[in-house]
Order: sequence, then structure tokens, then C-alpha cells
Amino acid sequence: MNELRYQVDLLTAMNQKLSVQEKMYRLVCDTSYNAFLYYSFEKSEIHLLGKWDSFFDFRIQDWKDLGRLYEMVDEPYVDHLREVIFLEKEHLQEAVTECMLRNKRIWLEFRARVFCDEEGVPQDKIICISDITKFKHQNDELTYMAYYDSLTGLYNRNYFVRLLSEYVRRAKEEQEIVSVMLIDIDDFRKVNDGLGIIVGDELVQQLGSFLKEISGEDIIVCHLNSDVYCIAIYSPTGQKSVSRIHERIQERMQKPFILSGGQEINITVSIGVAEYPESAATALELIGCAEIVMYKSKDLGKNNIQYFDTPILNAFLQNVQMENELKDAICSRSFELYYQPQYYAGNKKLRGMEALIRWRDGSGRMISPAVFIPIAEKNGAIVSIGGWVMEESIRQFAAWQHKHRDSLILSINVSPIQYMKEGFVDELLQILSTYRVNPQEVELEITESVLIEDFEKVTAKLRVLREYGIRVSLDDFGTGFSSLSYLKKLPIDTLKIDKSFIDTVLSDPATRVITESIITMVKTLGLETIAEGVEQEQQYKYLHAIGCDIIQGYYFGRPLPVQEMEALLEEA
Ligand code: C2E
Ligand code: MG
Ligand code: MG
Repeated sequence: MNELRYQVDLLTAMNQKLSVQEKMYRLVCDTSYNAFLYYSFEKSEIHLLGKWDSFFDFRIQDWKDLGRLYEMVDEPYVDHLREVIFLEKEHLQEAVTECMLRNKRIWLEFRARVFCDEEGVPQDKIICISDITKFKHQNDELTYMAYYDSLTGLYNRNYFVRLLSEYVRRAKEEQEIVSVMLIDIDDFRKVNDGLGIIVGDELVQQLGSFLKEISGEDIIVCHLNSDVYCIAIYSPTGQKSVSRIHERIQERMQKPFILSGGQEINITVSIGVAEYPESAATALELIGCAEIVMYKSKDLGKNNIQYFDTPILNAFLQNVQMENELKDAICSRSFELYYQPQYYAGNKKLRGMEALIRWRDGSGRMISPAVFIPIAEKNGAIVSIGGWVMEESIRQFAAWQHKHRDSLILSINVSPIQYMKEGFVDELLQILSTYRVNPQEVELEITESVLIEDFEKVTAKLRVLREYGIRVSLDDFGTGFSSLSYLKKLPIDTLKIDKSFIDTVLSDPATRVITESIITMVKTLGLETIAEGVEQEQQYKYLHAIGCDIIQGYYFGRPLPVQEMEALLEEA
């Protein structure tokens, strides 16, 4: 009897333990976001657990019912699903697939696992079904971000390069041509600076939408960056020829872009074109070549299209070589300074001289500063080159003063990049004090391009320079924005009228009117004027007659090497 009682107690305890465990597993299944299908091979029994009913509106009691499941998903997924559900037939222990539930538009993942005994005979099977819709959408978004540019909806740079590489590969096989057009909005910076980046973005977006219309079979369009777009055309002929696409773009540019704030903006674009196989052999090289010629079309006055050819490539390569040589030109002492005399128009007395840099490159060629200064400005070498010019010219000037005791003015050209650098004023003051040169005898020539920078910052620095007594002149006046109105706000001493005015001042009445009004205006502001590039006696006489103070040009003297300038000082 006791034995029997013991057995009953044991069974009751085991039962209780089992029902606790069963409850626990059921709770786990029910609170999970997944549905489970359990199958026992031994008993041929199916059990559904977890969130089954929230995914499906039918139940499965028998394997025959599985057909219902296949009906719920789209055709291409059926075979995969069958393989996963009957994975043991494929001799697999685990398998997974994903498919879209047609009626609910949700994505489900089916993950199956078979458990076998020691002999490898299947005993149990679990299929876990999870909703992966959210994950799928996030994935789609990531894919979109990987391929498209969010501002314009056009292909982004990376994806474009991939597609263009594919074009190039195909063109190689089929002996075809691929054209690449690089399109850049002219003066985009003015839109951004003047109207703000939100307006700038809207313009980029609108032009992007227009360019999207051009894309089609064998034409892909991308937003490369900022205000730059790129079009690749496979086998460019007929309607999809570069000239036809260019025409379409030109037609669009005739009309203004109307922005949401009501602004109407008229723009132009500069386009560079490169072609496979003529210009380059890879996608990146093609884009690079198109970029080089796009810049050329900017240099040629913007609003035009340029095609890549060999002379352009050579000029570019030369630039690159020059860039490298420039970097060590200071160490190799291959710079030299020439000095061009300036004379008072009234008494023809020497007023001073402008230091002008000269460079003899590795092969002994003399290269014009008009060529290499812009390159040095681009690669940053201008800071050390400009520093050398300041020190060397002031050192030389001090030596001349010591010898000749004349009161002269030394003019030094200063690049905007050098001027905007912190510590520029201190560096100059340091050099002046080292060589004991009076700041009032030094004049810095800045160009209007410096004014593109923060106007307040530029003028604040000008004021500091002038507090120390250093003179400032505005060089090349007439070649930039040339607005007389801002002159009033500029703390300068001298204005240099550009040679382009002097060239036509005798022949062109309009230039004459402008030149005369510049001089009158400058006089009322209490500034001096220097005429640059005076080559003829008549030009000098006329300029003197209309009140120009100082003359610089071949008529009075060319830029001279040190010894010749010295000889000139001795005569004076
Ligand atoms: P710039 O400052 O306007 O200098 C005047 C330029 O006109 C000089 O050219 C000079 O040789 C030339 N020139 C003067 N009179 C006449 C003339 O009667 N006829 C003709 N045809 N030309 C005349 P250069 O020396 O080739 O310099 C070109 C430009 O390079 C300069 O224009 C200046 O902007 C820049 N530059 C020269 N030296 C330096 C420098 O040390 N630093 C910086 N940042 N720029 C410099
Ligand atoms: Mg100058
Ligand atoms: Mg000038």
C-alpha cells in the first residue's frame, strides 16, 4: 500500500512539474512575435504555436493542408518555401527562406530545423515564422541610400560609377562608344551665397528633375555632388547624341527656374564631354577627363560645351607637373624678382617699383606668373611663395634705400589666400622690423577677388594694416565686379586701373567715359590712381590730362632684373 502511495505521489509531482514546464513554454511561444509549427515524425502530429493566427487565417492539422501555405505566397517563392518546409528530404538540418504574404503585404521569414536521433533518423521538426517587414523596409531604404542621391533622386556617384563601368565593359565587347557629359551650374556660389543654401538646394533639385527626364534606355544620369551632374550615354547617336542632349539642356536654360519662394532664377551651365575609348579607358578616368574640359569651358566664359582632346590632356598634364615642381621651387631657388618702375604722371619722377615674380622651371624655361600663380593658389604653395616674395623684396628694397636714400614705395602683390591666412600681418611686420623698413614705404596690392571672402573680415584686416601705416592698393581694377559703390567702403590708398582699360582708352569712347569717371570718383575719395600697362606716349598724355596720378607700363619701363633696376636708381 505504501509502495502504491509512493508511486502516486511521485506521478503527481512529475505531473505538476510537467504542467509548469508546459505552461512556461506556451507562454514563451505566445509572447514571442513568431509563429511555430511543430511536427513529430514518430506520431505524424502537427502543432501550431505562438502567433500563428495573426499571420494566417487557416490552421494546419495535416501535411495536406500545407498547400494553403503555398497559395498565400507569390509564385517565385513557392519552390523555396517547399524546400525549407521539407528540408529533411534535401538532407538538410537547417534551412531558411523569406517570402511576401500576398494578402497582407507582409514579409515572412521561414526558418526550419530538424532534430534527429543517434542514427540520424528525423524525430522532430520546428518551423519558426517571423515577420521581417520592418527589417525589409529598412533594408530597402539602405539600398536606396546606397544607389540614389536623396536631394535629387538621381543615381549617386558610387552607383553611377558602377553603371558607367558596366557601359565601358560592354562597349569594349561590342566596339561601341560611351560619352560622358559633366554638367556644372555657372556661378552657383552666387546663388548659394546670395539666396542661401536652401534656395541653392531647391535649384539643384529642380535641375535634377529636368535631367532625370533625359535618362532612358542607354542613358544614365547622376548627381555627382553639389551643383555637378553627370550623364553617361551608351552608343550616342540620333536622339541620344551628345549634341541633341545639349540642345535639350540649352532649351531648358532659356526659361527661368521658379522656386517655391517665388524667386525666378535664370542659370547657365558649363559642360565637359569625354568619350570612351578616345579620351579614357575607365569610368573614373572618363569622369576626370570630362571634368578637365568642363573647367576649360568655364575658363572660356562659361555657358558652353567643350570636348576632350589631346592638346587639352597635354596642357592638363603639364599643369600637374608644374604643380609638383612648384612645391620645391623655393628650396631650389628657382624664383627671382623683377622690379617694374612706377612714375608720377606730373613730373615723371620715380615713385617706386612693383616686385614681380619670375620662375625658371626645371628645364630652364621662364614661366609667367599669370600661369603659375593660379596653380600655386590652388595647391597652397602660394603661402610660402608669397612669404618669400615679401621677405626678398623688402630685403632688396632696404639695401637700395640704404645706398640711395630715396623715398620710394615698394609694391608687393599679395594673393587672397596669403592675405586671408592668420598671422599674415604679423609676418609682414616682423620682416619690416628685421630690415628696418618704414611701413609707409610698402604698398600691398590686393585684387578684387579677395572681396569674395567675408567682406567684414577682409576690410578689418585692411584697417589693421593701415593703422600700422602700410599702404594698400586695389590691383587690376575693372576686371572683377568693378563696382564703384563698394570702393567707398574699402579702406585703401591706391587704385590700379587695369591694362585692359588702357589698351582701348584712346580708341573706344565708352572706355574713355568709364576711365574718366573712375578717376574723378577716386579723386573725390582722396585716393591715388595708377594706370597699368601704359605703352604709348598718347596714352600717357591722355591719362595725365584726365588726372591720373601715376603711370606704370612699358612706355616708361619694363619689369627689370635687380642689376638693371639698380642702374636705374643710380641714374635717378
Ligand atoms: P599685375 O600685378 O597686374 O602686374 C602687372 C603685369 O603687367 C605684369 O605682368 C607686368 O609685367 C605687366 N605689364 C606691365 N606693364 C605692361 C605693359 O606696358 N604692357 C604689357 N603688355 N604688360 C605690362 P607679370 O609680371 O607677368 O605678372 C602677371 C601677374 O602675376 C601680376 O599682374 C600679378 O597679378 C601676378 N604676380 C606677379 N608677381 C606676383 C607675386 O609676387 N605674388 C602674387 N601673388 N602675384 C604676382
Ligand atoms: Mg600688381
Ligand atoms: Mg594689375
